[in-house]
Amino acid sequence: MRIIAIANQKGGVGKTTTTINLGAALAEAGKRVLLIDLDPQGNTSTGVGIEPEQRGFSSYDLLLSGRKPMPLEVKTAASSLWVIPATTDLASADIELHAHEKRSFLLSQALRRKALMEMAFDFVLIDCPPSLNLLTVNAMVAATSVLVPLQAEFFALEGLSQLMMTIREIRAKANPALRIEGVVLTMADMRNRLSQHVEADVRATLGEVVFNVVIPRNVRISEAPSYATTILDYDPSSKGALAYRALARELLERHDGQKRGERG
Ligand code: ADP
Ligand code: MG
Repeated sequence: MRIIAIANQKGGVGKTTTTINLGAALAEAGKRVLLIDLDPQGNTSTGVGIEPEQRGFSSYDLLLSGRKPMPLEVKTAASSLWVIPATTDLASADIELHAHEKRSFLLSQALRRKALMEMAFDFVLIDCPPSLNLLTVNAMVAATSVLVPLQAEFFALEGLSQLMMTIREIRAKANPALRIEGVVLTMADMRNRLSQHVEADVRATLGEVVFNVVIPRNVRISEAPSYATTILDYDPSSKGALAYRALARELLERHDGQKRGERG
């Protein structure tokens, strides 16, 4: 089971969009995928069409209730996604976590519970809040890797050193095996010189961790959540759908390559 924290403390960079659509693309590729909405705003939950009154077992429960985990199944055209949605009580979780002795380890422990292990997920994607708070720390302590969406704009790299510092700290204190899954450029406009310049700059600075696949700015991607669906179902042949499928493919291929490298 690969647990990927989708994190960047900046808001509006494409974390939620990437969680939903990368998750859908991995599911379409035949993987069993669980999405965990760890942002109190609940955009992932709303985006896949889970109404507030349907949110029985939530990410708050997963962290703090001790109740048996029960993800919701969301049917897509190609397959299914499982989701643990966010509820408004998640907003107070950060404070409640501070009072807890195992404050950074609760998600990690919860994900190892039998009820979830038995569901045999290939991927767990965690949509983090726009902050480096205890919710994000819990995600990174539980994760096998961190995927960082970066918006292709002038200040793209700003704030990244703080994020990398947090990752190093978590490796040192709690999760030595935590990898960087990769950095993905989002909302890129390739006809635009600034976007091209930002992409070149990000690749020069960060090197190989940057995915070859770039997610273009595509209005269909931003429309899909208001129809409570993924870009793959909303407009399967759109540029956005093709890009998220390609991202899933690159993520799977990279991993297979690393595995072969470890063996050989
Ligand atoms: P975050 O979760 O990091 O705050 P979101 O995924 O919610 O960011 O994206 C912020 C806004 O940008 C949303 O309105 C979303 O629909 C839109 N958006 C994200 N990715 C794209 C894209 N590739 N093309 C067009 N709009 C996008
Ligand atoms: Mg979000």
